[in-house]
Amino acid sequence: MNDENTRENEGTKIPVSFIEQIIIDDLKEGRNNGRIHTRFPPEPNGYLHIGHAKAICLDFGMAEKYGGKCNLRFDDTNPVKEEIEYIDSIREDIHWLGFDWEDREYFASDYFGKLYDFAIDLINRGLAYVDDQPSDLIAQQKGSPTQPGIESPFRNRPPDENLDLFRRMNEGEFDEGSRVLRAKIDMKNPNMHMRDPIIYRIIKAPHHRTGNKWKVYPMYDFAHGQCDFFEGITHSLCTLEFEVHRPLYDWFTDKLMTSSYRPRQIEFNRLNLTYTVLSKRKLLELVREGKVRGWDDPRMPTLCGLRRRGYTPEAIKRFIEMIGYTKFEAINDISLLEHAVREDLNMRAPRVFGVLKPLKVIITNYPEEKTEEVTIINNPEDESMGSRNIPFSRELYIERDDFMEDPPNKFFRLAPDREVRLKGAFIIKCESYRKNETTGIIEEVYCTYDPDTRSGANNSQKKVKGTLHWVSVRHAIDAEVRIYDRLFNHEDPTGQKDDYHKFLNSDSLQILKGCKLEPSLRSARPLDRFQFQRLGYFCVDYDSSEDNPVFNQTVSLRDSWSKMRK
Ligand code: ATP
Ligand code: MG
Repeated sequence: MNDENTRENEGTKIPVSFIEQIIIDDLKEGRNNGRIHTRFPPEPNGYLHIGHAKAICLDFGMAEKYGGKCNLRFDDTNPVKEEIEYIDSIREDIHWLGFDWEDREYFASDYFGKLYDFAIDLINRGLAYVDDQPSDLIAQQKGSPTQPGIESPFRNRPPDENLDLFRRMNEGEFDEGSRVLRAKIDMKNPNMHMRDPIIYRIIKAPHHRTGNKWKVYPMYDFAHGQCDFFEGITHSLCTLEFEVHRPLYDWFTDKLMTSSYRPRQIEFNRLNLTYTVLSKRKLLELVREGKVRGWDDPRMPTLCGLRRRGYTPEAIKRFIEMIGYTKFEAINDISLLEHAVREDLNMRAPRVFGVLKPLKVIITNYPEEKTEEVTIINNPEDESMGSRNIPFSRELYIERDDFMEDPPNKFFRLAPDREVRLKGAFIIKCESYRKNETTGIIEEVYCTYDPDTRSGANNSQKKVKGTLHWVSVRHAIDAEVRIYDRLFNHEDPTGQKDDYHKFLNSDSLQILKGCKLEPSLRSARPLDRFQFQRLGYFCVDYDSSEDNPVFNQTVSLRDSWSKMRK
């Protein structure tokens, strides 16, 4: 392989994907006049998920890299399941990922006329016929991969009769399911998809774009390849399950072709993620059954869910680059995605102080009315992000977990007679504490501070092992913080004998109220992302307001992926 055909990945050069190599070769050979034109063809029957992002990055990414174009085409061949809401969300999500289809937005329904004419043409050429049998009987007669199918008694209907019946099917004369149009190919073909596939069925529901104009609708297999052809697509990239459909698409294209141009379909492996379901049907079930709070619930693998959770498009793209495109089905580890999110947010998220489970600390030798400002660097990874001042005073909140009455030796946080540094401020020593004897809950901790230990001051040479984050009681803002765990507690919830519902994690959402945040967060806006120091990355939720700030946990700081590789 050429040296130029490699890409960087974490410092090592790895070959370009097999698909990119095919594109490079096709362009070199001048195939289809040296053009590259791809398309992303979602069915508008649900919201896009991270699996779709893998297809989007390839379709748009290859066109962008090699000076071509990528169309957006809504595959709206089934009027029953599709909704405008989904169309809008698909547009929004592709733009969010950073891709644009300019004026090339199409719908499979734009081609209903052309597809109908093509069906008529096939009938005239003796290559399609109307079958009056019910679909379950047709399915039975298909045989099996090792057994040839049985020809329909209607297979040799003369073209005139087929034409007449097909027209009347479209005029609404017959009931749904009473007749279909089939391509006349080969009932013995080892590829089941070639055994006289159904290409049109009667559906009497109105279509969101064509209204009541049509009573017959093309099957996906009859529409997809031809739509590619009509749009001048050169590389039709799709997932592996379509590999067995390719001979059928080619059969239709052969019948349409008038020049040497033809789209080339190349299949790649789907994205599957551990602890996740990636099927629009199942995701819709979770929404309808109220298992999640909607398509954009931050636990959902949908792009709008990941966005609300605080994931960035850059992190998603980086993850997709890391897993690559192959011909082999696999399940990708969700911790790799989380790793990509952390790496990205580490560079861009300002550090702030937030206390999720507050415990009050009183500094007994600090003046009651006094407030002083301490300066904290916003992001040690990026000096250009500057610093900010936060107020320090006599009463502070620290994290409840950062105090222990009776700690083991290795506990380097606060405990009776022990010292810690309050980040950016002073060293404090715990002198005593008050405990509610009935509940056993520690209510307040009393400390003294050493004024000579202020961070950054020349004389602050004293060293202690633990550093805690804190928020001044008087200045704190109250917030709700939503902590998320995986939606499923099984690595492969859909690959089991039991229904996937059985593996829903009942503790996937934990709502913490009364969290205490530093005052600078008052101006944070939905989707702003932060690192709460020592805790993880968080992002402002859409439900947030000045009166009731709400944050979503994006990801914790613990990187199980990096650990695994060490
Ligand atoms: P689902 O199974 O989730 O309902 P789908 O394949 O029916 O998805 P479409 O809207 O038809 O969804 O998909 C649009 C494009 O996205 C197709 O080209 C499809 O191959 C691709 N795609 C869908 N799911 C994945 C995935 N998990 N990984 C990679 N590509 C995917
Ligand atoms: Mg589909």
